[in-house]
Amino acid sequence: MLELPFNMALRFPKLDFKSFPFTENLNPELLGHVVALVAVGFTAAYIYYRAKHPKGSLDPKNFKEFKLIKKTQLSHNVARFKFALPTPSSVLGLPVGKNILARGKDSQGEEVMRSYTPITLDSNIGYFELVVKMYPNGKMSHHFRQMKEGDFLAVRGPKGRFTYKPGQVRAFGMIAGGSGITPMFQLIRAILENPKDKTKVHLVYANVTVDDILLKEELDNFANKFAQRFEVYHVLNKPPEQWNGGIGFISKEIIKSHCPEPAQDIQILRCGPPPMNKAMATHLDALGYTSNMQFEF
Ligand SMILES: Cc1cc2nc3c(=O)[nH]c(=O)nc-3n(C[C@H](O)[C@H](O)[C@H](O)COP(=O)(O)OP(=O)(O)OC[C@H]3O[C@@H](n4cnc5c(N)ncnc54)[C@H](O)[C@@H]3O)c2cc1C
Repeated sequence: MLELPFNMALRFPKLDFKSFPFTENLNPELLGHVVALVAVGFTAAYIYYRAKHPKGSLDPKNFKEFKLIKKTQLSHNVARFKFALPTPSSVLGLPVGKNILARGKDSQGEEVMRSYTPITLDSNIGYFELVVKMYPNGKMSHHFRQMKEGDFLAVRGPKGRFTYKPGQVRAFGMIAGGSGITPMFQLIRAILENPKDKTKVHLVYANVTVDDILLKEELDNFANKFAQRFEVYHVLNKPPEQWNGGIGFISKEIIKSHCPEPAQDIQILRCGPPPMNKAMATHLDALGYTSNMQFEF
């Protein structure tokens, strides 16, 4: 786009302005100034456009390397990874609902690739962050466990089938398990941080213990701050003594009480370990949610 003003500057001197009927009485010098002004205007418009629509840092076909600038251990098996973008004013360029593919090496040195959803949005300039749960025998988990500040992560994207536009549904039900919260969190943030977006969100989030709940503080803050638009219901396998959330696995009854009823203008999203996704699909089918009303990340 930047080429436009320069191309114009090269081409315009060759034009015979006198051939234009409206220019025959114009002074060529004045016309030169007008052309220069137009060129400056285009450049300013381009700079303004770029400031409003910064170019993304991802490539859907090729892996690009991003430097790890901060690793914060959140629990014994979860860490938050902050990666620098190419410049302090760069954005990642990941549409809401999309995810990235990260490439690493497992404990045997074999290449491994897995999907991740940043918990940051394109309103976060100069960096992006991942929250990653590392499983004892997980292949990519090994890579993330080994990563130190200053190391680089190879990432490709954006990818994913889910697209989001404000108002596309009246309400979302979200059923997440463990690290399956991250695609939900990205969408929840985008909805709640946009005051024009009136979409309601009902999250049911399953974990084993309280300590396993990822982004708990952020989710509870959202539920307090945006009580009219966002509700979260935690379900634990091993709850503490004082617990007013759900207990055990997410049941049909829990979905019925905490998700929007089947309707053409709602959607139930799910993301969790494969056995949980399968069980949730069975519950949703039995409750009358059609395939259009369901989406699995
Ligand atoms: C769209 C999408 C976005 C994702 N975003 C994130 C994210 O932001 N953060 C994050 O931590 N993960 C995320 N995941 C999960 C991630 O892609 C990997 O599956 C996860 O990191 C485990 O990979 P691994 O190679 O270490 O484990 P693997 O070697 O594939 O599996 C090792 C062991 O861990 C178990 N396991 C694998 N994945 C899960 C799981 N999700 N829940 C429970 N048990 C599991 C397996 O059953 C197996 O026993 C996302 C997945 C998808 C599809």
